[in-house]
Amino acid sequence: MAGGRVPLVAGNWKMNPTSRSAAIILARDVAEATRGLPVRTVVCPPDVFLEAVATAVGEATTAPGGIGIGAQTMQAAESGPFTGETSPLMLEDLAQYVILGHSERREYDNETDATVSAKVASAVAHGLVPITAIGEKADERRGRETAAVIDRQLRAAISQLDHLIDSGLVIAYEPVWAIGTGDAASGKDAQEVAAQIRGILDETDPGSAAQIPILYGGSCTPENAAEFFSMPDLDGALVGGASLDAERFAAIVRTAAELRG
Ligand code: PEP
Repeated sequence: MAGGRVPLVAGNWKMNPTSRSAAIILARDVAEATRGLPVRTVVCPPDVFLEAVATAVGEATTAPGGIGIGAQTMQAAESGPFTGETSPLMLEDLAQYVILGHSERREYDNETDATVSAKVASAVAHGLVPITAIGEKADERRGRETAAVIDRQLRAAISQLDHLIDSGLVIAYEPVWAIGTGDAASGKDAQEVAAQIRGILDETDPGSAAQIPILYGGSCTPENAAEFFSMPDLDGALVGGASLDAERFAAIVRTAAELRG
């Protein structure tokens, strides 16, 4: 367990599965297959299934060995004229985690660095763990802008937090070109970015980097998970496609337990 950081593997179900019963079965199967492993395992179903999934897995928790529940986004404001949105107050009893800044939200819902910053601060203020996603697009990678994009997105995301130590913050490095493409980053490249992230965290709040888990996301599978989890600065993964198959997701969690637990 590097630097005392508990490994964390979160499944981003996105807009899947399409029925409540399938969501319950998937959540139960994940809970069963990962129970007791020294990893924080988190499932992030669509909001409409949060309650059913929370009931299905029993006592949701941020402790290793149990299952945590996460939302896939939220509004920064507590209430108001935000059609279709979910408030942090509405999540408080249902979820312990919330994914923020996912590239699909940035791309399709016009989330900006400023929006992500407000949401991260709101999540922390409401006792939710923000799994904060940052990462460069394919053209930015080709233009060798990865480090600049990471620097900008990360500094913006944490800019409204008073302190990082004990904030609960989790950072997910998700190169956009790797998401859902089957074309994962190499462990070495992901490690390079994770080291940069840790540097910025420590510069912002000295000592925080040793505490904050950094995840890799982007076509992470049971076949390539070990490549990431054997890197010194990667503490787990944010998993999309492979999280919809309980056995494949559990295999990633088991790899995290073996290499990071
Ligand atoms: C994601 O959407 O956060 C993700 C990592 O997806 P996938 O694993 O399918 O690339």
